[in-house]
Amino acid sequence: MISSELTPIDLRCSAKGCRALATDAVRWRNPKIHTATRRKVWTACPEHRDHLSSFVDIRGFLIDVIPVAELSDSDG
Ligand SMILES: [Zn+2]
Repeated sequence: MISSELTPIDLRCSAKGCRALATDAVRWRNPKIHTATRRKVWTACPEHRDHLSSFVDIRGFLIDVIPVAELSDSDG
């Protein structure tokens, strides 16, 4: 059996207009629209990591921030 091809993670920063290489991943979930097993991931460069994480944090959506290297298939 051939395993399905992994979806490549977009390693560019998720911040609007930013094309920097992402080093961190902001994982978050909106309980109103996402199930408990669902996670959204924003990749972020060092410059925008705090901005992106605080954006979801103040809404109570932040799960955690991890290095992009630690992202797994279940993130996305
Ligand atoms: Zn950025």
